[in-house]
Amino acid sequence: MKILITGGAGFIGSAVVRAAVARGHAVVNLDALTYAACLDNVASVADSPLYAFEHADIRDRAALDRIFAAHAPDAVMHLAAESHVDRSIDGPGDFVETNITGTYNMLEAARSYWVGQGKPESFRFHHISTDEVFGSLPPDPEVKFTEDTPYDPRSPYSASKAASDHLVRAWHETYGLPVVLTNCSNNYGPFHFPEKLIPVIILNALAGKPLPIYGDGSNVRDWLYVEDHAEALLIALERGQIGRSYNIGGDNERTNLELVRALCAILDEKRPKPEGSYADQITFVADRPGHDARYAIDATRIREELGWTPSVTVEEGLERTVDWYLANEDWWRALQGRKGVGERLGRGKAG
Ligand code: NAD
Repeated sequence: MKILITGGAGFIGSAVVRAAVARGHAVVNLDALTYAACLDNVASVADSPLYAFEHADIRDRAALDRIFAAHAPDAVMHLAAESHVDRSIDGPGDFVETNITGTYNMLEAARSYWVGQGKPESFRFHHISTDEVFGSLPPDPEVKFTEDTPYDPRSPYSASKAASDHLVRAWHETYGLPVVLTNCSNNYGPFHFPEKLIPVIILNALAGKPLPIYGDGSNVRDWLYVEDHAEALLIALERGQIGRSYNIGGDNERTNLELVRALCAILDEKRPKPEGSYADQITFVADRPGHDARYAIDATRIREELGWTPSVTVEEGLERTVDWYLANEDWWRALQGRKGVGERLGRGKAG
């Protein structure tokens, strides 16, 4: 299959690009190379005959039409987005333009191309979204997000992703475009941009800086190793039912405080401080406005219908992630210098 992947120079998109090429798919990586992108993330496949790169912005409809015509993809995996909740609070405009208008442009370019091809049923437009569209859950462990949970987004980021999900469903219902949607919980792993919670904690710990935790650290997130997410996405693309959405999650609920303590324990083992623990650097900071209390995913549908289960436990995944950051200092040092990254240390997204 030839897949047009948007946002393939970002954190999750690059994992999808690497996994898709490994499965033998041809990939066209379309990315605007914003502050969050890094082409080194796909260096391992850049020389493959299966890989091509298009530097383009999803807000530019003419560029999208040209790319569809030039590459004639069999499927689209749409990941390009502004993804950082704290940036969406400071400046929501980019989130509206990229996540909503950009998705509208992708849908229209895909529809026009699909119609031009004679509406092949085998075509797929796979929209990659977040569990944050469902809002915030109570502490009751029995209550999780299912595919039928009503949308209740509470940040500019999640509202823009909810809007894009609605557009994708509407393009299926109205125009018959063969779509699949997925909504995933918080990802972590290699190549995670150094303004997100887990890299911030690892890198601040190593630098002897405070380890910032919002509020009292009781907010709960459901963590999934990024390579497990990439695998789930390819399975949903290949085998998901048209018009259906699938929740993806790892059943790994942790409070932010538990997560940070686990990272400190791993670092204490791997890079012991002369005295004390990295946990001594934990610092509670003013909470994010509208901070959702708990996210948790019920992934029964993708497990039972498509046979996907995560392969990496959170303990293994966190250890692999710490090892990766310890071994890839050049990668993260280069990104730490980018615009706005340092400004939000201490207000890092819990995800
Ligand atoms: P990211 O910020 O790491 O990467 C986003 C990529 O999109 C970057 O390479 C960037 O250059 C590109 N991009 C941004 N604006 C663009 C534009 N206008 N035109 C073309 N390219 C553009 O994001 P991520 O964490 O990898 O998330 C990828 C997708 O997965 C997003 O749609 C996000 O909503 C979704 N998602 C993320 C998580 C998570 O935990 N990070 C969880 C569930 C879903």
